[in-house]
Amino acid sequence: MALTKCNTCKGMVSKKATACPHCGEPRARGILGRGGIERAVHLGVLSLLVGISLLILFAYLVSD
Ligand SMILES: [Zn+2]
Repeated sequence: MALTKCNTCKGMVSKKATACPHCGEPRARGILGRGGIERAVHLGVLSLLVGISLLILFAYLVSD
């Protein structure tokens, strides 16, 4: 089970928990909230792949 650190009490909290079991602080939402990091990573990987593909295509067209 994936654990993350509570921003308020620094206790370990399950990533699936909506609030910290130690201090009751609701977990951060938005870009760092549920699925936010995964979405950002996927978007970054996708952008990287598209960029590399364009670079290879450009190199192929220039070398011909
Ligand atoms: Zn806490």
